[in-house]
Amino acid sequence: MTRRRWIAENWDETSATLTGAQAEHLARVLRAVVGMEAEVVAGGRLFHARVASVSHSGEASEVRFALASELRADPALPVTLVMAVYKFDRMEWALEKATELGVAAIVPVIARRTEKHLAQAAGKRVERWRRIVHEASQQARRADVPVVDDPVPLADRVNMPANAVRIVLAEQERITALRDAIGDILARSSEKSPAFEIAIGPEGGWAPAEETLFATSGWRAVSLGPRILRAETAAIAALAVIASSLE
Ligand code: SAM
Repeated sequence: MTRRRWIAENWDETSATLTGAQAEHLARVLRAVVGMEAEVVAGGRLFHARVASVSHSGEASEVRFALASELRADPALPVTLVMAVYKFDRMEWALEKATELGVAAIVPVIARRTEKHLAQAAGKRVERWRRIVHEASQQARRADVPVVDDPVPLADRVNMPANAVRIVLAEQERITALRDAIGDILARSSEKSPAFEIAIGPEGGWAPAEETLFATSGWRAVSLGPRILRAETAAIAALAVIASSLE
């Protein structure tokens, strides 16, 4: 039987604690009892654990685990998605899928063609995006949760020094396919899995000035094929190509 996996909010060397929605579900829906076995993620490490206590104060529940043995955890893909902010419902679907596919971090960026009202609302939406990747990490039985940064202007991220291979998904690119670029990078790299930053444009695509900015800042433009993909499809396709090369 696959043990359920929980992602602890608080932990120390020997115990881990669930609060909030996770604790509610475990305590009230799954009726957790002392001794019940589970897998618990604590600080990016994965443990076999047993319920040590279940407590309720008012509406809130808390479940504390005794950590038993450490288990092997599959690492995240060494990929940061630099995602231009676009329609929230579809962007949030992409966040969930990118989490399932193993992304390590997500940086929401405000691009020229990000709609004004979305650019203004993005800052208030981040907590919801963090909840979405937390729940998706649990469902995907990850041993970590992708980091979701606060939204920043695109140029700030493009110009930021980074020790990663930087790739921009460019719908106008016709020469270099992502698969070939990855193969080329891995062949030249001394590291088994170098870190990657992958930029995905908004619904309206990258503005010409942004394409120039990427080019002059050392980002490689790559294609995902002759068809124009929606941003969320491009995110999934890119992560699947990279995962198939690294995992
Ligand atoms: N409005 C743009 C157009 O019609 O040319 C399409 C933008 S597309 C919906 C959103 C983003 O997905 C693009 O900026 C790019 O980052 C990525 N994308 C979509 N199709 C792609 C492809 N075939 N190759 C590379 N990137 C692609």
